[in-house]
Amino acid sequence: MRERFVGIGMTSRRTRNRLIERLRAEGIRDESVLDAIRAVPRHIFVDEALSSRAYEDTALPIGAGQTISQPYVVARMTEALRAGGSLDRVLEIGTGCGYQTAILARLATEVYSIERIQSLLAQARQRVHDLKIHNIRMRHGDGGKGWPEHAPYDGILVAAAPASVPWALIEQLGDGGRLVIPLGHGHAQDLKLITRSGDELQEQILERVAFVPMVSGLG
Ligand code: SAH
Repeated sequence: MRERFVGIGMTSRRTRNRLIERLRAEGIRDESVLDAIRAVPRHIFVDEALSSRAYEDTALPIGAGQTISQPYVVARMTEALRAGGSLDRVLEIGTGCGYQTAILARLATEVYSIERIQSLLAQARQRVHDLKIHNIRMRHGDGGKGWPEHAPYDGILVAAAPASVPWALIEQLGDGGRLVIPLGHGHAQDLKLITRSGDELQEQILERVAFVPMVSGLG
């Protein structure tokens, strides 16, 4: 693992800056989000055979039929979750390779992340450990049920698409909390931002996205 951190061209500052400039051109404005993306080595989160493509703005396979999200989508979701403010406790559903988790960990006090596929979770845990990130807790479970023990959350980010919003996630959202979630069947979904104030929910469609489906139960 260690030798992958140093000395290879794809990790160069220039390669990473090119990605940041592209995200800016696509409309990402939150400098804290851009800084986090610049700082987290995405090549560590993908298979070595794909690491030369790690700083392209594209989704890539991570095994078990799943994908690491496109950097633009990670940036957009994180920007919407933050809304320019600081985040205390964040819940993420669909850890996958752990890349989005590591981005969130730079912007929140505590990150709780749930993944239903054990092999992906184990790898994500190892990476986060190797990168010495200490404010993440991961769990093998069905994210549709949330993680009630640590609720309420001021942000919940969902990286797999259910047909409708799991009620448990709304219940675990704190007052003023924000839920970013892809919703719908098939290969294209609406990415929604749901904001809770008291008992009121406000909904906004951010864009069209293509996530893997949210699947109930354990993998
Ligand atoms: N942010 C991740 C995205 C991975 S893809 C990354 O960039 O790597 C979405 C992940 O959601 C997959 O790993 C899939 O196994 C997981 N997933 C799907 N349904 C789930 C559920 N009900 N609970 C927890 N994880 C789920």
